Amino acid sequence: MPEDQRAGERNAMVDTQIAARGVRNPRVLQAMRTVPRHLFVPAAYESAAYRDGPLPIGHGQTISQPYIVALMTELLDISPGDRVLEVGAGSGYQAAVLATLGAEVITIERIPEVAALAEENLRNAGVHGVRVVVADGSEGYPQEAPYQAILVTAATPRVPEPLISQMAEGGRLVAPVGGRDVQELVRLVKREGRVESTFFGGVVFVPLLGRHGWEV
Ligand code: SAH
Repeated sequence: MPEDQRAGERNAMVDTQIAARGVRNPRVLQAMRTVPRHLFVPAAYESAAYRDGPLPIGHGQTISQPYIVALMTELLDISPGDRVLEVGAGSGYQAAVLATLGAEVITIERIPEVAALAEENLRNAGVHGVRVVVADGSEGYPQEAPYQAILVTAATPRVPEPLISQMAEGGRLVAPVGGRDVQELVRLVKREGRVESTFFGGVVFVPLLGRHGWEV
């Protein structure tokens, strides 16, 4: 299918699934119009890439629903040059959206084959500014801390303590927190060393498996 037809599908996705549900940040909407989501799903699902839901990417993992990607990105309030840590690279799509906003992104993935897939997808989409690291992201990535924004894209019973300590002053952290089956989206903001939390409704993510997540 020609690229301009994909652009049409992508604009419809932004208008009907994302802007219609209340995401307003024009830079976020523009990034969602730009990143070619169909290059981040398995070939068999390419025609479903702009549908209003998550899709399987192999190894029991998923690429999140477009609206959830946009909502979490908006909650992170990214400025160009922000250092951003993502836990759960998956397809690499969320990282691509963050990089398109001008962030320097480190994304961590525990499954090496999935990390390789994220790298391949990012390369095919021509996205720069993302580094994919294979590790247990529940420990964060202290080597490059502190981060202006941290995003956890896997369900966690509580926000991992190492991630809180790796937040910059004024930094934001967004994560799905709760049970293994259903979670609530929470945003933490660090001010003068203290963390304030706000909740943004129910979500469903695959589990964060690791030292500060669920048992492997
Ligand atoms: N952000 C992704 C979707 C993430 S799905 C996207 O845009 O496509 C969640 C991912 O988190 C899965 O790939 C899973 O393997 C990974 N994951 C789970 N536990 C993890 C951990 N402790 N550290 C790093 N990655 C983890």
